[in-house]
Amino acid sequence: MKKVYCDISATTPINIDVAKLMLDIQKNIFGNPSSVHKYGQEAHAVIEKARIQVANAIGCHQEEIIFTGCGSESNNIAIKGIIKSKSHIISSSYEHPSVMNVLKSLEQKGSSITFIKPDKAGQINPDLIEKKITKKTKLISIMFANNELGSINDILKISKIAKEKEIILHVDAVQCVGKLPINLNELDIDLMSLSAHKFYGPKGIGALFIRKGIDLNPILDGGGQELNLRPGTENIAGIAGLGLAIKKTCQNIDENINYIKKLENRFIDQLNKYKIDYILHIEDRLPGVLAIGFPGIDGQSLLIALDLKGIAISFGSACSSGTTKASKILLDAGINEDLAKSTLRISFGKIHNYDDIDYVAAELANIINRINK
Ligand code: PLP
Repeated sequence: MKKVYCDISATTPINIDVAKLMLDIQKNIFGNPSSVHKYGQEAHAVIEKARIQVANAIGCHQEEIIFTGCGSESNNIAIKGIIKSKSHIISSSYEHPSVMNVLKSLEQKGSSITFIKPDKAGQINPDLIEKKITKKTKLISIMFANNELGSINDILKISKIAKEKEIILHVDAVQCVGKLPINLNELDIDLMSLSAHKFYGPKGIGALFIRKGIDLNPILDGGGQELNLRPGTENIAGIAGLGLAIKKTCQNIDENINYIKKLENRFIDQLNKYKIDYILHIEDRLPGVLAIGFPGIDGQSLLIALDLKGIAISFGSACSSGTTKASKILLDAGINEDLAKSTLRISFGKIHNYDDIDYVAAELANIINRINK
């Protein structure tokens, strides 16, 4: 049976060159990067090379990057690290749990949080953020693009507001690397979270951009690794894998975006050819990420039927999977409950070709016609 993995937003397969590099490092470079001898220096050099690769890819200085255990950890280090006393924080109602639950725990400890809901385009309105700023606002934490909707926020505008009001801006950019060009020279972002497994790198490794001058309290106690913010002997192979993956994904970004948009258009043409009734919720979206409703069709059943045909998609995000309830994110974006329950996230990437797209559309048409009968 043909297998097509269309859940790129949940995670990506690892790039083969990245996997080879990691294997080589696992086999040959085992020194502790903190050791003074040559073994240590060799391991240290691997980490510093990756740091430069990340900095070059996103337009910052290498000293502004620390490596972490994953995107969730980057979000925790950033937000808990910057909120040192009870404060006011502005965020959105559709952040990833690794932001949302950190904010809720800060709320329980006395901070106050304003959660702004997305508009119908799936975006957080920068004017609403500006209106909610008070004298006590210490942090704005807004994701670059939403993992379920694929909608993209106007981070440039939000960053200008934050800068003007002298408020720290944290951005969860986990979904964006390789899908959108990111240049931190042009954006007044103070803290930004990344995760390698979303851009064809390994799982269990992330990075956090910390703009020079931003002072974070560590959330873990231990050795002095990673600017005293992420103690523990470094995951050398994972860090090298992240470095190469970000370099590769950002090198050909325009080409990749064009290619993925072609795949998307092909998919939509095919849906139209099969006369499938569908609603694409978000117009201005990350390339390849489709939040798509099939009116009258139960999303969970569709997911299972597609899985039996070797096609992997998701109902909501990977973090909210296993639930049959309508996604709160879709409801917050003004999608009615029935349609939300009929909505799937299909995400395409550079691993796909037209055959894959045609197979997914044909199987979708078969299943939907069968259910409708
Ligand atoms: N932030 C967003 C927007 C995500 O989509 C994810 C992963 O799904 C994360 C954070 C967490 O990243 P990680 O899986 O590396 O912890």
